[in-house]
Amino acid sequence: MKNEEKIIYRAAMILVDGQFVRDAALLVSGGRIERVLREKIAAHRFNTGSRVVDLGSVALIPGQINVHSHAFQRSLRGKTEYREGGQADDFWTWRVAMYELANRVEPDEMEIIARLAFWEMARAGITHVGEFHYLHHRPDGTAYGEPNEMALRVAKAAREVGIRMTLLPVAYHTGDIGKAAGSEQRRFISPDVETYLERVAALEEEFSTDELVDVGVAPHSIRAVSREWMEAIGAWAQKRSMPVHIHVCEQRREVESSQKAYGVPPIEALHDWGVLKDFWTLIHGTHLSKREVDILAEVGPTIGACPTTERNLGDGFLPASDLVSRAIPIALGSDSHTVIDPFEEMRLVEYHERLRREERNVLVGVDPGGRRQSADVLWPMGTTHGARSLQSAGGEIRDGGPADFVVLDLEHPSLVGATEQSLLSDVVLSMSAGAVRDVIVAGEAIIVERHHDKELEITGEYRELMARYGS
Ligand SMILES: [Zn+2]
Repeated sequence: MKNEEKIIYRAAMILVDGQFVRDAALLVSGGRIERVLREKIAAHRFNTGSRVVDLGSVALIPGQINVHSHAFQRSLRGKTEYREGGQADDFWTWRVAMYELANRVEPDEMEIIARLAFWEMARAGITHVGEFHYLHHRPDGTAYGEPNEMALRVAKAAREVGIRMTLLPVAYHTGDIGKAAGSEQRRFISPDVETYLERVAALEEEFSTDELVDVGVAPHSIRAVSREWMEAIGAWAQKRSMPVHIHVCEQRREVESSQKAYGVPPIEALHDWGVLKDFWTLIHGTHLSKREVDILAEVGPTIGACPTTERNLGDGFLPASDLVSRAIPIALGSDSHTVIDPFEEMRLVEYHERLRREERNVLVGVDPGGRRQSADVLWPMGTTHGARSLQSAGGEIRDGGPADFVVLDLEHPSLVGATEQSLLSDVVLSMSAGAVRDVIVAGEAIIVERHHDKELEITGEYRELMARYGS
């Protein structure tokens, strides 16, 4: 049931059109922002019949959009941070540990882990997540009685937390280009592309009237999905105006496999096949050739960078300057959930470039839009670019937009003294996610004074599960 009550939220500052304005208010009803009320007087005029909530010394910002999550990987946190004596450790050794986990998670456990991950996201100011979901089948590879069982559990977890979700069921077929999948990948595999698309269609139908859950498609990567599958999935998604997400160029080994099999790196291959379109999101985009950057600038897909995961896995640096200088939109994801902090993702895009180039304010230096502050370039990555990637109307506070917003505590130690001129830089470059006080999704307050009404159950069940899983 949608909340049809009219509520006026008053705040010390509200971020509208990229600027913080003082003493403004939002008129919210039916899950949407009916009006942004910029003047106190205007707020009085709209008072009749509305409940006024004075939030105090706070700032309102749009909810953060996390375009790339594998919720189950939240339970791997803290468990792969060591090296076996004398052995190499990299993305591929991490993947062995990740597969071990992937092969033990049962449906009830999936729900418990996903709920914890989504709760942590909500606490950090994320209101919308793109869930790149590939744990489809039983550990032995056979389908559950309900083939979408695991996806439905993930969606149920999102509903319980109240976060908005774009479910991206993953197509997975080969272990590497032209190679059969291994036994450790059998939970992910679809027997043929028609079966995969039928299952996505069933999910689309299931959530057709659900305002909080949308469905897209996700061919896993060029390693796991052949050209024929890619063409079928791309065409099918285009007909339905669905987002398409794919892992691309995260690791040099993937680029080398593509070179060997197709004579070109992954993005070039996707482009040559005619499947790459502007409604695609390419997750990572870490190792890009000059030609691939040209293709991105020409075709216009979104890059879904995941800097906290990429630094944890030792993937390499996002070539952010090359992307920003060509106006290629970058969105952000927390991916493996080593850290869930959308502001940290944002600032790393700039900070990695500062470390690489031994300069400051690097991205504004190459920004074709001529913006002056680093925060102005970074902010859209967690908001409007994320909305573009997930085809959502969110990402900004505006008349008629979804009422997905975050209340920041201006008395939090990391924000004290911020002015309307400095606050965006404070938020993007210095704020602790602990300054997030309340979170509203579709007009419903899911986090109030840093608490969720189901959090004891969410954390209790997760703690028990982790004790059972052991180290
Ligand atoms: Zn991923």
